This record gives sequence, C-alpha cells and structure tokens, in this order.
Amino acid sequence: MLGRLARWMRFLGFDTLYSPDISDSRLIRIAKEQDRYILTRDTHLIEVKGVKDYLLIKADDPFEQLLEVFDTLQIKQFNPLSRCVECNGLLTSILDKREIQDSVPEFVFLHFNVFMRCIDCGKIYWEGTHPKKFREKLNEILKKGW
Ligand SMILES: [Zn+2]
Repeated sequence: MLGRLARWMRFLGFDTLYSPDISDSRLIRIAKEQDRYILTRDTHLIEVKGVKDYLLIKADDPFEQLLEVFDTLQIKQFNPLSRCVECNGLLTSILDKREIQDSVPEFVFLHFNVFMRCIDCGKIYWEGTHPKKFREKLNEILKKGW
C-alpha cells in the first residue's frame, strides 16, 4: 500500500526497505535489529503488537504521505539520486559515460553527462530519470522553508 511512498523516500536518499508481504513478526524484528522506523497504515499492528518506533500514515495520496513523514520525523535534508528506487541500493557515479552507452537510450546518452549506477541491481540513473511533476512538487515543499 505504501509502495509509491517507499520509492519517493528512496529517490530522496532515505534508506527504505519495502516488503508488502512481510509478516508482522518479521517486520518488527527487522525494525528492531536495524534500528528502523516502521511506516504503516495498519493500526492493528501498532495496537496489538506494541510497536514503539512507528509512524502511522493517514493520507491516501503518496505525496501527502511523504509530507506526513517529513513533518513527523522533522526531516529537512534530502539527498536525491543517491539510492536506487527499485532496490534501495546505493548509487555510484559513472566517471566515463561511454561505459553505459549501450545501456541507455541514445537521446539520454547524448543529452546528459551525469550518470549513476546502482551497486546492487545495476540500474542506471541520470538527472532526468524522474518525472518533471515530481520535481515540481518537491520544489513546492522546499519553498515551505525547509
Ligand atoms: Zn538497484
């Protein structure tokens, strides 16, 4: 249910695990072991299992969910394009773009100079990877004085 939120969190550089099918007990164990916050919409999980470090997401819209997270956790800094939105792996810069010439569309290769690669799954990123709409919305947030 929070899949899009998870992708946006990763896009902004936050270490975010997302497993929609995970069992409650495993989720709670991983959160404890790795010192993570649990973001959930499941009130049952919070009430019955006595989870402490959690954030109950109320909004339906993924962007409003993102704002809830920023607000509650007092997040003011982002590090966009540092994590893979698909797998949460760290991105590393590609120093010589000829390396990835065959992995991206020709237009992208010709028009962009900054490329990154996920060290876990190999996905290639560049400055224009993410939709313009997302960037515009992000700028809205940043204008709020963060
Ligand atoms: Zn990846």
